[in-house]
Parts: sequence; structure tokens; C-alpha cells
Amino acid sequence: MGRFDDCKLQVLRISQRLSSEGFFGSKSGSAGNVSMLVAGENAFVVTPTRMRYDIMTVDDICVVDFELRRIEGERKPSIETPMHLAAYKSRADVSAVIHSHQTYASVLGVLNMPIPPLFDEVTLAVGNIIDIVPYALSGTRELHDNVARKLANRCHCYIIQNHGALCVGANLDQTYTLVELLEKCAAIYCHALATGRPVTVLPENIVAQLHAAVIARQDREIARKNSAAAESEKDAREPEPGR
Ligand SMILES: [Zn+2]
Repeated sequence: MGRFDDCKLQVLRISQRLSSEGFFGSKSGSAGNVSMLVAGENAFVVTPTRMRYDIMTVDDICVVDFELRRIEGERKPSIETPMHLAAYKSRADVSAVIHSHQTYASVLGVLNMPIPPLFDEVTLAVGNIIDIVPYALSGTRELHDNVARKLANRCHCYIIQNHGALCVGANLDQTYTLVELLEKCAAIYCHALATGRPVTVLPENIVAQLHAAVIARQDREIARKNSAAAESEKDAREPEPGR
């Protein structure tokens, strides 16, 4: 078993689950992409471009470094790979990225409407807003720059205008849940707006408290990653006992 196989398997399983649940916009297409950081390395595992998820195997998953050079895999990585890299470079707390084409988030994407804080459990997971990343053509530097700029708000879910959504988290399972929470929230917001009646949002002081808890959780995750990196550096420096 190769040293990236565990990460590749995780990316494959989550991608197939997202596809079969319809989060990529169709259940038989190749849209959307998923990646996961390789712990302690400037490298990540990412889904290949233009390939159906139901026939994808572990060997089809790509591994690239932070210069986007392919380390492993025969296939070409997703054209949105630089967007995943932008997330890892701009957010030290992020170790998993899911780009989806989910329906209700996309409705708000074509309306160019961010989702305000509506539920405390969602705000505690996602942060104080689900904001809109301004439109730019898929795969372009402009789109990746727009994503990087928006990620500075330290939230976990984003709607990409006239395109889809982006969720970032500390691991793939947590990020999958963010995709589900985003869709739930987007669906409720769309249905609520459709009534034409005013939508109530959480009080500002509660939102501030919940967002502070999100930032604190990210800071703990960054500290954990830094100490794990320092530990493995120390192990690499120290000679093995008996030598
Ligand atoms: Zn897309």
C-alpha cells in the first residue's frame, strides 16, 4: 500500500457519496471536486478531471504538491485544483476542501444572495455568514483569487456566483457535514424568501459569540497542526535508538 493510499481512499469514498447524493449537480456526471491535505506535507490528494465518480478507483486519484506538480497518479488533476491550493495556502486551519454544484446553494448563487445567520447550530459550524464568491470563469486565476480573498472571513461555507459552492474544514467527514448544512440552510432560506414575508435572523450579539467560537476552534486546530509538525521534525532529527 502506497503512503498516499489512505488519503486517496478517503477522497474517493467522500466523492462517491457526494455524487450519489446529488451534491455535484448530477449523479452520473464528473462535475465538482474534492481534496484532502496530506498531513505534515506541502501536498494534497485531489480528484481527477472529467471522470465519472461511479467508475473512479483509488488509482485514479491524483497527488500534487504546492507548486501543482503531480507527485502520483496517471490522470490529470481537476481544473479547479488551484482553487483547492488557494484554500490550503490562505487558511492554515483547512485540511479538506469540497467544491460542489448543489441545488439550493446554486439558486442563491444565481440570485447573488449570501445567507445570513439563521440557526445557531449552523452558525457555530459555519461562521457568521455564507458569503458569495464573485463570478469568474471556472479554472481561471481570477476565480482562485476571488476564493482566496473571500476565505479571509474565516467561515467554512461559500457560494460561488453562477457556479456552485465551496466548503472547507479540518477533515473530510466534517467538510461533508458542512456541505449538508449548507444545502439545508440554502433550501430553508429559498423557501422562506419565496413566501415574500420578512426573514428573521439571529441577534447580532449571539452571532458574535458563535463566530468567536468558530475562530477559537480554528486556532486550536492550527496549534494542533503546528505541534504535530514540530514533533515529526524532532523525530526526523533524532537518531533511532541503538544506532
Ligand atoms: Zn464547478
